[in-house]
Amino acid sequence: MATTQQPLAVVGGGPAGLMAATVLAEAGHRVELFDAMASPGRKLLVAQRGGFNLTHSAPPPEFAGRYGAHQAWFAKILARFSPADLRRWLADMGITTEVGSSGRVFPAEAKASDLLQLWLARLQRAGVQFHPNHRWRDLTPAGEFIFQGPDGSSRTVTPAGAVLALGGASWPQTGSDGAWTSILARHGVAIIPFAPANCGFETPWSATLLSRHEGAPLKNLLLRAPGGQQQVGELVITRYGIEGGGIYPLTPFLREELATTGRAVLTLDLKRDLAESEVRARLAKPRGKNSWSNFLRKQLRLEGAAFSLLRECCSDADFADPARLAARIKCLPITLTNIRPIAEAISSAGGIAMHEIDEHCMLTRLPGVFAAGEMLGWEAPTGGFLLQGAFSTGYCAAQGLLAWLTRQSQAG
Ligand SMILES: Cc1cc2nc3c(=O)[nH]c(=O)nc-3n(C[C@H](O)[C@H](O)[C@H](O)COP(=O)(O)OP(=O)(O)OC[C@H]3O[C@@H](n4cnc5c(N)ncnc54)[C@H](O)[C@@H]3O)c2cc1C
Repeated sequence: MATTQQPLAVVGGGPAGLMAATVLAEAGHRVELFDAMASPGRKLLVAQRGGFNLTHSAPPPEFAGRYGAHQAWFAKILARFSPADLRRWLADMGITTEVGSSGRVFPAEAKASDLLQLWLARLQRAGVQFHPNHRWRDLTPAGEFIFQGPDGSSRTVTPAGAVLALGGASWPQTGSDGAWTSILARHGVAIIPFAPANCGFETPWSATLLSRHEGAPLKNLLLRAPGGQQQVGELVITRYGIEGGGIYPLTPFLREELATTGRAVLTLDLKRDLAESEVRARLAKPRGKNSWSNFLRKQLRLEGAAFSLLRECCSDADFADPARLAARIKCLPITLTNIRPIAEAISSAGGIAMHEIDEHCMLTRLPGVFAAGEMLGWEAPTGGFLLQGAFSTGYCAAQGLLAWLTRQSQAG
């Protein structure tokens, strides 16, 4: 990679790439930003659908803990560009944020499109040159980046340094199709195959359940995955199985169990606020002429989709015995038979193996090339941890590149 007055390249115009381009351009560098799509930030725009959680108010150790196996690495990254830094940075651009009751942080008024518009204007003021419809195709051993331009022609750029921010492999219609992996693999960079994260799971519901409750939410559940991981939240009954905020954080454990054994049993506590002994005592009361649905509604406020699900998953023998029924209500097993396709998932696991980058996000096999965002092999639940991960790694990759350029010029 050359170190003269050449421009710096940012490849990928999602939140990670836009953040990297901002830091580099505002430090006075000439920045060229390439994206395969006609406009940048398309996945940022669809994040509006999920409530547009920009970050989360969890305290630092808990926040870093949401990155699982990579929490120690993320603790350092988040210390350099924290959720509080992000909120200040957004406020600087006129986007005020607020904390919801769940601790999630979202814009007080602005939409994703407002943020993107303000951000692109800021990049323009900083002189970033944007190249839409430029698909990254290759990287030569001499550090030349080969792009395919809008007319299909090839364009070669030799930047002084680069930040790659090409995203994962979910929602490919937004441009994040994961096709970049072969380029880095050719350079010996270890790539972990992509897998769906924060996604739905399949289970064969009966036609009766679906006809009555497709689309119905099941609220205030305690969900347990194989291995004992648990989560409070809600689920939605879908045509193919289940989806929803309650199951997203359990995705890694369910995905692994499905890959290992071909099935995964998720258990639901339908009355998490009552001890099993209390459920049993209420069920032991005489039912009289009440139907089961009336009886459970009166005794336990268990009704609608939750009642039908219980009916679906329990035998007549379970219903005949209050102790067995109480045990089922507190621990209702749902056998998951498949994970939904990655194209539908909110995010993806996999990408560049984390051991391939240093703590400044530089690819150790490709000095001067940094990587950020969802293309790195971390995963996190929804609720602001994904976008914060993209913003913080984009920031750190850019700072890493600036420090690397300084070292190069001092050495040369
Ligand atoms: C429906 C939905 C809702 C979401 N809601 C939230 C939320 O509320 N909170 C949250 O934290 N996260 C949310 N996310 C996740 C979040 O949007 C992503 O994690 C985030 O956008 C990842 O940022 P990134 O910059 O790493 O990659 P991306 O945003 O995926 O950007 C990658 C860019 O690289 C470009 N690119 C890819 N390949 C090439 C190539 N070969 N050449 C040139 N350019 C290329 C793409 O066109 C794209 O512009 C949501 C995602 C979805 C799908």
